[in-house]
Amino acid sequence: MAVKNEGSVTALTEVGDGMLLVSAEARNPDLLWEPGQAVALVVDPDGSSLKDRWRHYTVRGYDRKKATIDFLLTRHDPDTPGGRWIESLAVGTTFTFMGPGGNPVLRTGADHYVLVGDRTSLASVSAMLDGLSADAQTGGPSPTVEVIVATPDPEAAVLPTVNAWPTTWVRASSADDIRQRTLVALPQTVAPGARAYVTGEMTTMRAVRDALIERGVAKRSIGTHAHWTPGRRGL
Ligand SMILES: Cc1cc2nc3c(=O)[nH]c(=O)nc-3n(C[C@H](O)[C@H](O)[C@H](O)COP(=O)(O)OP(=O)(O)OC[C@H]3O[C@@H](n4cnc5c(N)ncnc54)[C@H](O)[C@@H]3O)c2cc1C
Repeated sequence: MAVKNEGSVTALTEVGDGMLLVSAEARNPDLLWEPGQAVALVVDPDGSSLKDRWRHYTVRGYDRKKATIDFLLTRHDPDTPGGRWIESLAVGTTFTFMGPGGNPVLRTGADHYVLVGDRTSLASVSAMLDGLSADAQTGGPSPTVEVIVATPDPEAAVLPTVNAWPTTWVRASSADDIRQRTLVALPQTVAPGARAYVTGEMTTMRAVRDALIERGVAKRSIGTHAHWTPGRRGL
């Protein structure tokens, strides 16, 4: 994530269950991005430490022609550096970011996928699903996908993808509930050769990864990234 860039907010859209879709114009529009990758972003330029200044957010989508980059932000607490930044956003707000970069990134070509996460994973999950749709349109396989997302209010939750994908919404807010209920929702059998992407709360991510390995998914076919966990700031 070496290249410093600047974004200018062009639109803010509520997308359900505390999620905010932020579209921004990138000053340097020449980004290299693959579905799943995130940016590091300055949420408080006056913060006294790196942990106060920077947070990571996944790129929901990137349109090279329009030079726009989208994010899906979780309102989990209005009194954290990230929360204050989200509440401060308005059309025209500018911000500094580095990237995108990092893992996991979508690897197309499998016949079966399992995507698991919580609200912080919605940008990654929806970008990957759009990536699978685009791949199928250009001759790739049309895979089956199990999508499992934990969220406080499933009735209000939205998966903002180009095509509709069946989704198992798990009702959970605390880290313990997210982990326990996500594990219950996991499929008992997973098709051979499946690829999995697991992001979100750290203890859930680890437990889900272990459960998938037990069910026969190859370790190298599971992409993971911890997004948050109780008591840790700015993962
Ligand atoms: C690679 C990467 C990609 C990410 N992508 C996204 C994304 O696309 N959208 C998104 O919304 N978030 C995303 N996150 C998660 C986001 O960076 C964290 O939630 C971050 O902690 C938010 O910063 P904060 O200042 O609000 O809270 P912090 O100051 O970092 O944390 C304060 C307290 O709040 C708790 N906390 C943090 N996040 C949550 C949460 N989501 N739910 C409940 N409690 C929480 C912490 O454990 C801590 O106890 C990503 C994280 C990483 C590492």
